[in-house]
Amino acid sequence: MRITLIKSTKQRTRGNKMKQLEIQDLHVEVDGIEIIKGVTLNFHSGKVHALMGPNGSGKSTLANALMGHPKYKITKGKIILDGKDITYEKANIRAKLGLFLSFQYPAEITGVTMNNFLRTAVNNQREKKFSIVEFHTFLKEKLKELNMESSFMKRYINEGFSGGEKKKAEILQLSLLEPKYAILDEADSGADRDALKIIGESINRIKQKNSMGIIVITHYQKMLHYLKADHVTILVEGKIVDTGDATLAEEIEKNGYNKYLGEIK
Ligand code: ADP
Ligand code: MG
Repeated sequence: MRITLIKSTKQRTRGNKMKQLEIQDLHVEVDGIEIIKGVTLNFHSGKVHALMGPNGSGKSTLANALMGHPKYKITKGKIILDGKDITYEKANIRAKLGLFLSFQYPAEITGVTMNNFLRTAVNNQREKKFSIVEFHTFLKEKLKELNMESSFMKRYINEGFSGGEKKKAEILQLSLLEPKYAILDEADSGADRDALKIIGESINRIKQKNSMGIIVITHYQKMLHYLKADHVTILVEGKIVDTGDATLAEEIEKNGYNKYLGEIK
């Protein structure tokens, strides 16, 4: 009896330990230049982790490398998702395993409607595919939550969308795909106060429902007024220079990154 008990505790510990996105000594090159210079970091399921740093510090590079963008070459280190090594997996496999990236600069794609794109993206991840009618019902509910017009769905992807609309479209994707880990690259840039509030509240709702791990990338903490960070990591010139809790983000808002800029080189 005793032995069984000990065993189950051990298994439980291992089970929880697996629920994270681990980055181990990651080095990433773009066009032959090393941008990420040895980053070790864990993102936990059900937590909000803010990745902050000045412009050009490598935040988007790290996000793209995590998602498997072929231009961002991993030269050393590992990425492990819930215990599975995904360092060299293709982006579509990473997406299937539950990783999601919302882009800092979402692309416009003429000729493909939001509706068709989203249905294809969602069906790619599902065993049981949605029919057009079923998807419509599913989508309608999500649009309502985000305070988005359904006419939006007939438009081509991001074409003529305002900054806030582009960001909302990314969050709509997030709410439909329900990933295990979502990397949100500057989900606050270009969004006005109202859009920001809706985006922040929606992310909170999705997080609570799915116990999703969220990585918020931002260089100032606008978004963090709506989305409380459990952990904060500061990246400068491709290296981690500081870690802390939400108070670190507040301190950055007051004093900026100056205190870190002398430390590198
Ligand atoms: P951040 O997101 O923190 O502002 P980035 O990751 O976008 O920083 O950029 C870090 C550095 O990597 C910059 O010097 C940038 O010019 C370079 N870089 C990033 N992506 C590319 C790319 N696709 N092609 C060339 N250089 C890039
Ligand atoms: Mg960036």
